[in-house]
Amino acid sequence: MGAIRFALIGVGKIARDQHLPAIAGNPDFDLVAAVSHHDPELDVPWFATLDALMASGIAVDAVALCTPPQVRHALAVQALHHGLHVFLEKPPGATLAEVETLRAIADARGRTLFASWHSRYAAGVDLAKAWLAERQIRAVRIVWREDVREWHPGQEWIWQAGGLGVFDPGINALSIATHILPQPFHATQAVLYVPANRDAPIAADVAFTDVSGTQMSMNMDWRETGAPTWDITVETDDGTLRLSVAIGHARLVLPHALHEGPDREYAALYARFARLIADGISDVDVAPLRHVADAFLLGQRRLVEPFVE
Ligand code: NAP
Repeated sequence: MGAIRFALIGVGKIARDQHLPAIAGNPDFDLVAAVSHHDPELDVPWFATLDALMASGIAVDAVALCTPPQVRHALAVQALHHGLHVFLEKPPGATLAEVETLRAIADARGRTLFASWHSRYAAGVDLAKAWLAERQIRAVRIVWREDVREWHPGQEWIWQAGGLGVFDPGINALSIATHILPQPFHATQAVLYVPANRDAPIAADVAFTDVSGTQMSMNMDWRETGAPTWDITVETDDGTLRLSVAIGHARLVLPHALHEGPDREYAALYARFARLIADGISDVDVAPLRHVADAFLLGQRRLVEPFVE
């Protein structure tokens, strides 16, 4: 089989920082076009809409949707109806039900749908999962704090309904937690701190428990002005695990071992997408998005001071 003829849809920060280098580094993919509101000035033809690309006659096998989540569903439906395989950036949609619809369309048309969770491919994550599988979990603490002005400058969509606010990075922690913790868990309480001039929370505290009654806490805050913290700490009957996931690097500290590694998340995501297409299957795990939806369902909303960029 030749390379997968590929188009990138939505050429913003993540497309430029991660998707383009990962595609360039993977011979299974051949970037043939880009779809974006503005000319992204790449070395491939650019189209303002997916319809325009489809009408151009350029042959495309698959797309990655790197737009904000609020427009992802409509684009994914369009792409699947054109018979394309679809790679969804995280979160896979703005709602759970819309992702189920996509899964049904992909299955009916025999196309691959990949709901990607990049943080699951960070260094140390699989080792953490294997280590925890053999231990008794006593408590879990997730702390995800970063300065929104530094990490999401000018991203209006992130503050609008469906943009998730502080859960946009927080869902990365949940994608790891749902992957490495041996038991399913669910939210029991949530407090969402919402700026008076925005739809989405700037901070949130969520409590979870699992079937054994293990307590889990999650603190997310975009008002952090110092260095970011992206830490998952798990206390077990055999010592404490700490996984720290930074941009470009991850560090796993176990009682008698340290594992560190560079960022290979998007290289691994594209290798996975190529494998899924070759095998003719989809990978659509909505567990992280379900926890976010539950936090919004349970959440007490507290209005906080307006956020002005
Ligand atoms: P971004 O910088 O705002 O980029 C989004 C891009 O999508 C913009 O170029 C936007 O163009 C374009 N776009 C919007 N609607 C479109 C449409 N209908 N058709 C074509 N293009 C469209 O956002 P981002 O940070 O890259 O994030 C995008 C997604 O990736 C989010 O779901 C986010 O959670 C995820 N993600 C981001 C990061 C990160 O570090 N930034 C990491 C992992 C995952 P206009 O601005 O011209 O509208």
